[in-house]
Amino acid sequence: MIGVEDAIARIRAASSALSAEHIALADARGRVLAEDVVAPMSLPPFDNSAMDGFALRANGNAIAAGSTFAVEGEQAAGDAARAARGEACEIMTGARVPDGYDSVVPVEEIEVLERDAAQRPTRIRTTSEARPGQHLRRAGEDIAAGAVALRAGHVLDPYACMLLDALGIVDVAVRSKPRVAMFATGRELVADPRRELASGEIRDSNGPYLEAKLREAGAEVVRRATLPDDAETFVAAVRDAIDAGVDLVVSTGAVSMGRYDFVPEALAMLGAETVFHKLRLRPGKPVLFATLPQGALFFGLPGNPISTAVGERLFVETALRRMLGMADETRWRLPLAAETRKKPGFAFVQKAALRTDADGGVRVHPLRGQESFRIVPLRDANAWALLPEDDETIAAGTLVEVLPLSHMQSNLIGNADA
Ligand code: AMP
Ligand code: MG
Repeated sequence: MIGVEDAIARIRAASSALSAEHIALADARGRVLAEDVVAPMSLPPFDNSAMDGFALRANGNAIAAGSTFAVEGEQAAGDAARAARGEACEIMTGARVPDGYDSVVPVEEIEVLERDAAQRPTRIRTTSEARPGQHLRRAGEDIAAGAVALRAGHVLDPYACMLLDALGIVDVAVRSKPRVAMFATGRELVADPRRELASGEIRDSNGPYLEAKLREAGAEVVRRATLPDDAETFVAAVRDAIDAGVDLVVSTGAVSMGRYDFVPEALAMLGAETVFHKLRLRPGKPVLFATLPQGALFFGLPGNPISTAVGERLFVETALRRMLGMADETRWRLPLAAETRKKPGFAFVQKAALRTDADGGVRVHPLRGQESFRIVPLRDANAWALLPEDDETIAAGTLVEVLPLSHMQSNLIGNADA
């Protein structure tokens, strides 16, 4: 039996980044960049006004309140570059500043002294002092052309896409989605939710759960089936997945010590190489990790729903991050809300809720009902707490390791040293 950190290290060592593909940015939401994106233009692309008001020339000096200016015309958002034609022009937010003006006085800080027949201001007076260069957004102030806009490994969430859309990026290089086959094993399982359960049968909840989680984690689920407890059927299904070119096979159930736990035997039939089987971890002690003949990775997760969930989060998502070319996760450390007891000799992953105190401080609340068959507490969880192997009693206030429910959320808190 090996420990969790050793298991994670072995998974990382066996997982490598998939190839890149070029796709339209419009289709790239949620995908992971495979290459740095360099800004092809500056943002803002030109000096423009931050306010509705009047552009004028300060020439590096403060403009005293009460100064008057003749107004030569206007410049609206979308108007092209032009030269300053006089002392000042009316200007709108986002309008390109005419060449020669260098400051903007907001409309709230002027009085109109004269207007033309169309009621446009022709002469104004400032009502407060203006700093030279004020209320201008300079070309390149946000990002300069040639600077790195996004690094490889960045997830194209709406925030990243806002930047790329502003830069006029059309296509991006992203990592291919890891192609996954998922098999739930157990003759007690009923996959069709409309079929009535016979005595001794249960619904397959791991199948739909894993399909949803693997998608959320950045993978494409290309095959999913519910299989009986039979090594031959399982071997055929995995062979078929290998032939379909999957990068990853995930199974649930049949990996422990029971009479019908055939997965190790099936892996031997497949000629797989087992990297580890059994961990000092609860839930999830029987987790099995192997490499399949053509190079795909195999995770055999125990069938209890929480063992499956923990195995997917801790181990499968570790492999997916590497396949997607993402940086390894940094776990958070947050204070325990209450004293927690566990069996020493095993790391314990607990269903947990991060909750704010009265003062807004965040603490980790291990939830009631940690047994691996109990799925109701997962409904109330928003994190996993990873309690260390050696400890038996962990005092309230102790910093413990925490993982958000999905690795895609682990950048919610950045690393100050990165
Ligand atoms: P196993 O790992 O096959 O020994 O299964 C452990 C426990 O998890 C048993 O109680 C199974 O009935 C249950 N189980 C296995 N697979 C699933 C599944 N796909 N959905 C829900 N429960 C499952
Ligand atoms: Mg089973």
